[in-house]
This record gives sequence, structure tokens and C-alpha cells, in this order.
Amino acid sequence: MPEALATKPRESQVDVLVVGAGPTGLLLAFALVRAGVSVRVIDIKQKKIVNGHADGIHPRTLEVLQSYGLVDRVLKNSVHIYAFASWNPSPDGGIVRTALTPFIPSPTARYPFSVTFAQSGIEGCFRDGMKEDGVEVEQGVMPIALEISDDKEMLQSPTAYPVKITLQRLQPGEVADRAAAASQVNGDESEIVRAKYVVGADGAHSWVRQALGIEMIGEGTNSVWGVVDSVPETDFPDIRTFSSVNSPNGSFIIVPREGNLVRIYVQLTEVDVDQTGRLDRSKFTAEDIMKVAQKYFYPYKLAIPKVVDWWTVYIVGQRVASSYSVKNRVLIAGDACHTHSPKGGQGMNAGLNDAHNLAWKLVYVLRQWAPISFLDTYDAERRNFAKELIDFDKYCIKMFAAKVKTDGDDTEGVTQGELATAYTTHAGFTSGIGIQYHASTIINVSNPSLAANLVIVQRLPPAMILRMANFCPVELHDLLPSDTRFKVLILPGDISDPKQKAKLDAIAARLDQPQGFLKRFTPPNAPEDAVFDIITISRTEKTVASTQMIPPRLLSHWEKAYIDAESFCGRVGGKLYATYGVANDGAIIISRPDGYVGMVAALDDVDAVGEYFSGFLKAQPDA
Ligand SMILES: Cc1cc2nc3c(=O)[nH]c(=O)nc-3n(C[C@H](O)[C@H](O)[C@H](O)COP(=O)(O)OP(=O)(O)OC[C@H]3O[C@@H](n4cnc5c(N)ncnc54)[C@H](O)[C@@H]3O)c2cc1C
Repeated sequence: MPEALATKPRESQVDVLVVGAGPTGLLLAFALVRAGVSVRVIDIKQKKIVNGHADGIHPRTLEVLQSYGLVDRVLKNSVHIYAFASWNPSPDGGIVRTALTPFIPSPTARYPFSVTFAQSGIEGCFRDGMKEDGVEVEQGVMPIALEISDDKEMLQSPTAYPVKITLQRLQPGEVADRAAAASQVNGDESEIVRAKYVVGADGAHSWVRQALGIEMIGEGTNSVWGVVDSVPETDFPDIRTFSSVNSPNGSFIIVPREGNLVRIYVQLTEVDVDQTGRLDRSKFTAEDIMKVAQKYFYPYKLAIPKVVDWWTVYIVGQRVASSYSVKNRVLIAGDACHTHSPKGGQGMNAGLNDAHNLAWKLVYVLRQWAPISFLDTYDAERRNFAKELIDFDKYCIKMFAAKVKTDGDDTEGVTQGELATAYTTHAGFTSGIGIQYHASTIINVSNPSLAANLVIVQRLPPAMILRMANFCPVELHDLLPSDTRFKVLILPGDISDPKQKAKLDAIAARLDQPQGFLKRFTPPNAPEDAVFDIITISRTEKTVASTQMIPPRLLSHWEKAYIDAESFCGRVGGKLYATYGVANDGAIIISRPDGYVGMVAALDDVDAVGEYFSGFLKAQPDA
């Protein structure tokens, strides 16, 4: 036995250990690092990925990236997709374009289009962001053992490190062999990490999930697809338009990509899947896939590319994990907890939004602003979403595979009208804009009529407003960064009306009292705006509006007061109250740190806001 085996592994501590540096793990780590949390990220791969994998990013995810200050880089380097072409069998045995529709009609989206941007590009945004704060991914490191303490006191203590995870570092060029690694724990290459929390973002075959004994519930399908990224030579006219083609021979999908590339997804029909539902990938080549594509393209020509940027084959499984955490100390996210077809382009988007949902909740628990049980809301919100995603995926696959028939044809299939209706109905889901959570401790749906056009369980829609101090137009979303704070939006109506002004003054007075939510839930030594960022948006005319009208308690900075009025150039503004359905009586809207509407309260019921926060935040000791 080598001498090194006798050496004791080194030991260390960290608040959060993230296993897996795909898009999910990286967004989570980036957001936690930004919030000042001590984080480590490990990945079994020796090198980060460069080509291929996920590509499509949808409108809600763009908004989320904007909230982290990352969207400009994505928009600049991506292909923007506005249109979707449907092709179907033509009477002469070929294919014909039967519809050209807007892709993802999501009227309230800040970015009303999807983009294609390589997964490595997205990952690069997070990696670079973390690097600025001195955190880098530890490549070539894998976990080989995981234990969660049974000690109740330890599990309930916010400062304890109840998770013990053993890591093994691979030698340069070494290929991971988990079984061998587990039997060769040694001091040089192994490390025992004690963590407050571990998050498994280690993909569809998640080691963390398996170590926790969490089951994947659902089923596999026989749907096998090949994917090739190349610069195609073809006379197919929509090769640079996002297209779904249902040919008499089989289906394919065209996705225009950045850097002149085009991705072609090809449905493979004559494929053997073994009894465990796995594919033998060694039986395929990119050329095989392109040869199948050639048949489907008929009568158009498609050359076999000389250079292929990336290719793969995959079989669709539709499964959701039975739980997203064990004891709220080890959690899983992204593909580790849901798998489905890439057809709707949802996997990476779903994983990024899992991470976005989890990050601020972990921060609240780590800062001891919320109890550890607060993390239950992560499982509740995101697992429910994943179940809906699988239903959506099943539906998508059915629609992609269906024969398109004419009205009055009574054979099996769907008509163009049915396709269009289905497409519009699901646009909110595809774009992510319509994704909604359910009423819970962190979503109070009791006052829908106060903001009649808002869906309280969804994200807060964007709106242009004018900064009161200088009448500069500002997008409200720019005031809602993912900085872990709740945004308390006070909409007092027109405060040149003394009645409305009196209500605004009363809110300010209540916030100054020890029992007001501001004092109750803000830690005594923290800045006054550490937990809540208060923004007032009045409906007052430009000519009358002045920051002098805002009580000092609500004007911690001159950038905290706005008006809902048209800009001086007349192009934007003046529609927020109408868009949200808020009357001149006003309302208070709480936007959660992830941009979802948490509650709407009456202007004169600031105590209801306090009650909402007391449902999940810990009152601070001095309060
Ligand atoms: C062909 C194709 C096209 C797709 N297109 C899209 C699209 O357009 N839009 C979209 O939203 N989604 C798309 N998806 C889905 C998308 O790729 C995944 O949903 C997404 O990558 C999931 O991200 P993740 O971070 O959860 O997991 P992954 O991307 O799988 O990352 C997991 C990471 O964990 C690491 N890891 C694994 N095991 C261990 C271990 N034991 N220890 C340490 N590290 C480990 C891996 O090396 C990897 O870096 C596509 C998928 C495929 C196959």
C-alpha cells in the first residue's frame, strides 16, 4: 500500500460548497460570492467546457441576468431570435413553410425575444464575476463521501457545520474513477470539508443526489435526437431562422447560433436503446446524424460539413427529484433535480432560475435573518415548477411530433390554428415570464384588487418611471437588482392631494417606530437599508413634483423617489399605475429579492407588510 495512504487528509470549513460548475452551480456561487458568503465550487472536469451544450436563453432569464448586471455581455455576443418558422410536408413529398410567427410573444418582457449564447459564454460571465471577488472553480475535484450530522442541536444551529464531505483531487490528465477514488483517500489528494450547506448542481447523473438517496420520479421516452453544430452549406431558405420542420421522413429543428454557426437537431428513428434506457453513443458519428438530416431536408440540399464544432446524441427522459434537499443542509439544483427534452430550450433556463431562487434564501439563513426552515420554500417553489415543466415538455414533444393537418381533415394530427393557439397559451411558460409560484409564507395573495393587473405570484413586470429629483427616465427593473434586499415599493397615488400625502407621512412615521418592520427586521448593527430598499413612486404631475414632498424617512437618498409621468421627450413613462392596475388610493408592493411579487398591501396598512415579513423573517434582538 503506498505510503501516502497513511497520511491524514487535510480538513477545512466553508459556509457553502457547490458541487458542479455548470450554469446552475456557477450562478449560485456567483450570487453567493456577491453577497459576501464564503463559497467553494468544485467540478469533476479537469477543464471547463468550451463548445456545444445548452444555448437558448429566454426573456425571464435575460431579466434575471440583468438583475446581476450581466445582460449586456450576453446581448452583445448572442443571436437574437424574434421569429419562428414552421415547415410541414408539401403535396409533392417535400417540405413547405406553413407559418412564420413571432417567437415567444411575451408582451411584458423587458427583452421580448430569446437569444442563443453558448453555455460556456454564460458560464464565463459567472466565472469572471467570481474571479473579481477572488473565487475560482476548483477543476478536477470530486466528492467521494457525504455525511449529514444527525445531531438535532447541530442541525438547528445556524453557525454549525453539520455536513462533512470528502473531496478527492484528480491528477492532471487523470480520468475520474469514483470507485477507485473512494478507496484511495489519502492526505495529498483528499480533503475533508465541513460545510454549513452543500449544493449539488452536478447535472443529470448527480453524485450528490445519489449520495442522498433522492429518487428521480418520472419516465424515459424512446425519443432519440442527434445534434450537430456547424456552418452548414445548404439551399434551405430558413437556415438562419429558428425553425421546426416536420418532413415526411422525420423531424428536425434549426437553431441559428452565434459566430455563424447553426445547430441542427435531428430526430433519430432507427436507434437501439438498451433496457436501462441508455444509448450507446459510440455507435454514432456526426456524419451519421447529418446523413439522416439530408433525407429530412429533401428537396433542399445539405452538405456534410467538413468541420463540426460540437455534436451529441441524447435520449429524452422526463423526471423530477422526489425532494430537493435533505434536512435543508444538502440541496440539489438544476439538471440534478429535473431532466427533460432540450426542445423547449428550458434546461439551462430552469437551472439558472433554481439557483436564482435558492441564492437569496441561503443568504438569509446564513445571515440568520431567517430560520433554516425558510429553505423549505426553495423545494416548494422550484419542485412544483419542475413538475409543470415536465408537463410542458410532454406537450412540446407531442406538438413537435404531430402531423399538421388541414381544417376538416379528421385523421390524427393538429391544425395550424391549434398549433398557433397552443403556442400562444404556453408563451408565458416558454419565455419564463408567466412562471408562477403558489401562495405561501413568502407570497401573500390576499389583496389582488389593490394592483388588479399584477399577478402576485409572478415576477414584477418592468415599467418606465421618472426620477423625481431630475426627471430622468429610469426602468424600474434597474432599481430591483439581485442584491438580496426586499424592495418596498410605495405607490402613494398623487401626493399633491393632501389625503394621499397624509397617508405617505403616516407610513414614514410608522417605520420610525420600534414595531415598524424596518426596525424589527433590520439587524441593529447593519445599515438601515440592509434588508429593505424603500422606493416611492408617486403619481404627481411633473410640474408639481418635488422631493420636498417625500418624508425624510423615505428619502434616504435622492434616487429613492420617482413619479409615474411621461418623460419630457414623450416617449416613455406614465403607465406604471395603469400597468399594475393601482388606483389613486395607492398601494404598497413588495418585490422579493428575486424580483417576484411577495405581497400587495393597502397604503394605510403598513402593519400588514410587517405581518407578512414576520411570517418568515426573524425579529432582531434589539427590536
Ligand atoms: C443538446 C442539448 C441542447 C440543450 N439546449 C438547451 C437550451 O438551448 N436551453 C436550455 O435552457 N437548456 C438546454 N439544454 C439543457 C442544458 O444543457 C442543461 O439543462 C444545463 O446544462 C443544466 O445545467 P446544470 O448546471 O444543472 O448541469 P450541467 O450543465 O450538467 O453541469 C453539471 C456540472 O457538474 C459537474 N459534475 C458532474 N458530476 C460531478 C461530480 N461528481 N463532482 C463534481 N462535479 C461534477 C459537471 O462536470 C458539470 O460541469 C440542452 C441540453 C442538450 C443535451
